[in-house]
Amino acid sequence: MLNFRRISEKRLILFFLVLIINFIFCFKIEAQTGKKITTVVIDAGHGGKDPGAVGRKTKEKDVTLKVAKMTGDYIKQYCPDVKVVYTRSSDVFLTLQKRAQIANDNNADLFISIHCNATKSTNVQGVETFVMGEHKNASNLEVAKLENAAILYEDDAANSYDGFDVNSTEAYIMLSFFQSEFKNSSLEFAEHVQNQLVQRVGRKDRGVQQAGFLVLHKTAMPSVLVEIGFLSNPAEENFLNSKDGQTYIASALFRAFRDYKKEYEKDNAIEGDAYEKIDKPQIIDANKIVYKVQIESRSRKLDNASQQYKGLENIDFYEHNGQYKYTAGVFYTKKEADEYCKKVRAKGYSSAFVVSFKNGIRQ
Ligand SMILES: [Zn+2]
Repeated sequence: MLNFRRISEKRLILFFLVLIINFIFCFKIEAQTGKKITTVVIDAGHGGKDPGAVGRKTKEKDVTLKVAKMTGDYIKQYCPDVKVVYTRSSDVFLTLQKRAQIANDNNADLFISIHCNATKSTNVQGVETFVMGEHKNASNLEVAKLENAAILYEDDAANSYDGFDVNSTEAYIMLSFFQSEFKNSSLEFAEHVQNQLVQRVGRKDRGVQQAGFLVLHKTAMPSVLVEIGFLSNPAEENFLNSKDGQTYIASALFRAFRDYKKEYEKDNAIEGDAYEKIDKPQIIDANKIVYKVQIESRSRKLDNASQQYKGLENIDFYEHNGQYKYTAGVFYTKKEADEYCKKVRAKGYSSAFVVSFKNGIRQ
């Protein structure tokens, strides 16, 4: 699309056309409702002949693979409605272009590229999450240069990236012209990632940043590149190399995903959607025992529970032994709940029964 070797007038016209198309597409995306996060692509940085950053005893490619797999496992376990796709699940080399293509081919809703940082100083430490954009300082540019240098291991990089020169600052400015229509969502997810890594895992905060990453350049969905720490810092290397450290980081990435998904789906919910009703706070004193009518249990979470149980009120669910138990109504007295249970049964849910909760916990 954009030739970094020579930009003719024709190409500039094409470039502005792309910008206009992006704008229209963006508008369409904004207007969309009811969309859910159903596929996530997790990209373990580097691999095979490309070790990535190298610490005293650790290669970036090994840490990123372990953390990627753990993150995916958590998502599979706790968000069973989400398909997890890995760009690689073993120690193999993949081009940056291929990684983006895997995300696009799978129509992913989110792309997470996991990396470790390195710098000359052994003191520098912390986590930062990048989205595609214009770098605001030299340090961000350095990170992008370091990560984009992965294409130096590729056989056909000159053609694949239209002559992109990983060391040319101008090339990065050109690259940042391509503002993704998914930038806002990418920034939102990036904030969740930083919050989790900093607040919950206690890593040093280097913030949400922007720079021109080739791996993020061609993905057609919200995308981030997270630098989970510096292998050049001995203490951080030890942490990243440990099972505990990897578990902490992966669970933080999982929680960031879960929170982003929840918010995204709430924001995009159409009227009458399950999320609207389930998440609407009920005016109920949590300390009191409340009664609900359990309708049935399901092995999978419903996309649109209030549609499914049309005609019943206050549809909610709780999880137990991997099952989603759907309930209707919410009452302070068992008598009221019993009355309502009769109505629910009369609607065809013959095995409905009354259950009680205190502080949201089934009694
Ligand atoms: Zn990397």
